[in-house]
Amino acid sequence: MTSTTAPVTGRRLRIGIGGIGIESSTFCPHRSTTDDFRQTRGQDLLDRYTWTRADSDLADLVEWVPLLHATSLPGGPVEAESYLILKNELVTRIREAGPLDGLVYDIHGAMSVIGLTDAEGDLTEAVRAALDHHGTPDGTRPMISTAMDLHGNVSRRFAEPIDLLTAHRLAPHEDAWDTRERAARNLVHCLREGVRPHRAWVQVPVLLPGEKTSTRLEPAKSLYASLADIEGKDGILDAALWVGYAWADEPRCKAAIVVTGEDAELAAREAESLARRYWDARKDFVFVGPTGSAEECIEKAVASDKRPFLISDSGDNPTAGGAGDLAYMLGKLLAHDAIRTGKVTAVHPGITDPVAVAACFEAGIGAEVTLSVGGKVDANHGGPYELTGTVEALQRAADQKDRAEGGAYDRGVDMAAVRVGGLTVILVERRKPFHTLADFMGPADGGLGVDPRRYDLVVVKIGYLEPELHDMAADWLLALTPGGVDQDLLRLGHHRVERPLYPFDEDAYEAGDAPDLTPTLL
Ligand SMILES: [Zn+2]
Repeated sequence: MTSTTAPVTGRRLRIGIGGIGIESSTFCPHRSTTDDFRQTRGQDLLDRYTWTRADSDLADLVEWVPLLHATSLPGGPVEAESYLILKNELVTRIREAGPLDGLVYDIHGAMSVIGLTDAEGDLTEAVRAALDHHGTPDGTRPMISTAMDLHGNVSRRFAEPIDLLTAHRLAPHEDAWDTRERAARNLVHCLREGVRPHRAWVQVPVLLPGEKTSTRLEPAKSLYASLADIEGKDGILDAALWVGYAWADEPRCKAAIVVTGEDAELAAREAESLARRYWDARKDFVFVGPTGSAEECIEKAVASDKRPFLISDSGDNPTAGGAGDLAYMLGKLLAHDAIRTGKVTAVHPGITDPVAVAACFEAGIGAEVTLSVGGKVDANHGGPYELTGTVEALQRAADQKDRAEGGAYDRGVDMAAVRVGGLTVILVERRKPFHTLADFMGPADGGLGVDPRRYDLVVVKIGYLEPELHDMAADWLLALTPGGVDQDLLRLGHHRVERPLYPFDEDAYEAGDAPDLTPTLL
């Protein structure tokens, strides 16, 4: 194993950019298709990144070659045919690009595809073969640098063909664009200096939901903060820690660590030490806030004097892969006397139901409607909820801008706000997150105009709160509701994950024999 190769001098590097990114739950009945992906090519793809611009310090060093980038809101598994369409285009574009020195591989890492195990392993093998087909302009092996979400999975099959792997260091992912830039800059550095770094890779038999591993709280905060210290050491280029994706049932789903550097021994030592610290801390990871059942959370929020009081309907969070059409929480809210009678006000945004939305548009603002809401895609938790209410506001998809927040695709959708007693429920034509004030308000002209700050309760299909919701919340509870991204992992019924695995085998290794956390040098 060599850690050096001929540096590229005297010419600009040719580096491709491409990838497919989605986080998809195998426990969710929703199916993701090509239509769910925001696909960028050519200049649109380059425009995603600041470091590809003509005024970037990298402009003189690199010719960026846009391939295909596809990113989707999280959801259910990707249909096999849709995956193949995207994969084939990416691979074809790599081959047609001619010799490339490297690839910035911009992915998520938790894609589930119907009928496939380790989708990113499959995609990466094809990408590697396509790159190696031409080799670099100098006839050497192109390098791949991967930017990932820390909720991605890192199997050996996936990691082996990749030269550089890095991931976000914050959850929520406020550093998502920094991660991609780090991947690009590390790749340029290695190609220009002729460095082929070693990767010390180790998986840790722990699988935790994101809501227990937010970097706002310990122990994730310190574990993630230590990555910069490791990276700062001589001979180390990057350190990355993946929590893994809890809502897919595959052997690769578990935590992973990769320390990358020219000093193989140091990289291995640091990877093992970090793996050990993660393992030792496994029982210290707790939910980012107080939790309860839907009924308990509603009861406490109604009784509180903190306004607005936010509740996360976490089991059906579309931004983790939930169907986003469960009416479970809606039923619980309207079962509460204070809310039903209007003594307490509540807003509950984001139940996907195109038929109900169309009926509201047909009826018009001010009309009374009787609707059968949600529970059609994910029919496992109570089915549709029948309600009669008043259409309060309507917003057309065309009035909203498509958005690629942190990379995920969030497009404009038709929406209707319907009031029943003290509750305003916001129905959406297709899956949509509510993370910002703008999501509720819409544009000043023709927007929904629902201001969540005016309600007593704000009940969102989300896990931990994204920054704007976090700032608005006078208080908050995480409701452990059912759905495709149920936070109570033990009731989901994983059976393909590798055992023993914490917390599925809570007491494994209790006898003192800790798991083998010796890294493999790739
Ligand atoms: Zn994530």
